[in-house]
Amino acid sequence: MKQALEFYLEHRKKIVAQNYVNFVISWDMQTDAAENSVVADSEQMGVLSQYDYELATNPQFEQAVATLYQHRDELDDVLAHEIEVMYKNISDTKKIPMEEYAAFSELTSKAYPIYVRAKRENNFELFRPYLEKIVEFCKKQTVWLATDTVKGYDVLLDMYEPRYTQAKYDKFFNTLKERLVPFVAQVTANVEPVPAWATAKYDVNKQKEFCEYLRDVMCFDKSRGIMKESEHPFTSGFGTDDVRITNHYHEDNFISSIFSAIHECGHATYEQNCDKSLNGTLSGGGASLGLHESQSRFYENVIGRSEAFWAVHYPVLQQYFPEQLGQVSLSEFMAYVNRAERSFVRTEADELTYALHVMLRYEIEQKLMDGSLAVADLPTYWKEKFTEYFGITPPDDTLGVLQDVHWAYGNFGYFPTYALGSAIASQLYHHMSKDFDVEQSLASGTTKQVNVWLTEKIHKYGSSKYPDEILRLATGEDFDANYYVDYLIAKYSK
Ligand SMILES: [Zn+2]
Repeated sequence: MKQALEFYLEHRKKIVAQNYVNFVISWDMQTDAAENSVVADSEQMGVLSQYDYELATNPQFEQAVATLYQHRDELDDVLAHEIEVMYKNISDTKKIPMEEYAAFSELTSKAYPIYVRAKRENNFELFRPYLEKIVEFCKKQTVWLATDTVKGYDVLLDMYEPRYTQAKYDKFFNTLKERLVPFVAQVTANVEPVPAWATAKYDVNKQKEFCEYLRDVMCFDKSRGIMKESEHPFTSGFGTDDVRITNHYHEDNFISSIFSAIHECGHATYEQNCDKSLNGTLSGGGASLGLHESQSRFYENVIGRSEAFWAVHYPVLQQYFPEQLGQVSLSEFMAYVNRAERSFVRTEADELTYALHVMLRYEIEQKLMDGSLAVADLPTYWKEKFTEYFGITPPDDTLGVLQDVHWAYGNFGYFPTYALGSAIASQLYHHMSKDFDVEQSLASGTTKQVNVWLTEKIHKYGSSKYPDEILRLATGEDFDANYYVDYLIAKYSK
């Protein structure tokens, strides 16, 4: 065991270093590299991915992980968890036949441009044969990777949010169906028109300056992170001391960059505040997609769309844009940033209706995986269910079943983590509010007290525990969707 541990720790250094190389290259490709830069297909990238493969499949490394897995009771908690996750990854990879895996990679790389064309031309039939094959592969995956306790669609769900199964998600989405669907219908029955100031032109450089200001409000440590631009805002990082976020600025939609900045700073706060002892291990960063999203949405929605937050920062925003906002009151601004309406596109949906878009996708994935829905019937089924939940019918497939890219990549099981994140944010807010007056704390001008609470309850663990364990440590209970619905009903009743 001593030998295995020594080998593991040495080999891990190589994996971490290789991860750093991949992180920097991917950041560069998404931010600074020229549009036609061919680095993605280059010989160098081929060589690097060969290194990745060799590091991951090194037989001595596999042997060391297997030995440590047998002796995991003797390891400290952080390493024991890391070994458990690594052991599962290695054995899962081996369960997928090599030629099937290669064929699937080829399939999804062919499917992507076809999907883009199908979406642009509103032509589901073009994408259908590819999606059928992708669904077939995912179904086979559920068989190859099944264990005694994790079977069927649960296998895919577990890949994106460990230990969250259909039993948990069904309970979550049933709560939404019973309590949120009728409430949404009520709130969205009468929607105020979009005010003219919201779509006026806002100087992009001024928007950038205000987003810089927001980074200070959120206590983003600029000595350990940067902000740049990309087509779609995202966060990436390497340990706690190199955390990078991006934003995208639209001259006629200034609200978008503000809330993207808050959202990405939420992800960044999580990364910057993991325990520093996790740097250099494979246990840093967020514990899961859902838990990561719970942090970004906590800041974006619970904090960033609250009156207590804007009572302090709206006068500053007005100073940046006196012409556009000088005559707009705080309450008008608040009404606009919390506007809820029925809409077709998930990524543009507001806080109130967002999770219902996810619920629809979850139910469809369940049916595709258990065979009760055929790919050919997807467009019709989508429209029917969408009408049932939202009371409006998508006019075409581009605004319906073709809107998201996830299925073209074969990412079945991913969607529910988005809604889970929002819901966990509400549960955390409930518990945080028992410890201190959250709204009052924002009067100080920064989110410092919120950051400290979340660091202590969530961030410090990095990915050294399963997400459900961290939630239980933070709140003393399991995930409960009722906090989310209570929060939305209280907020939107006002
Ligand atoms: Zn996010």
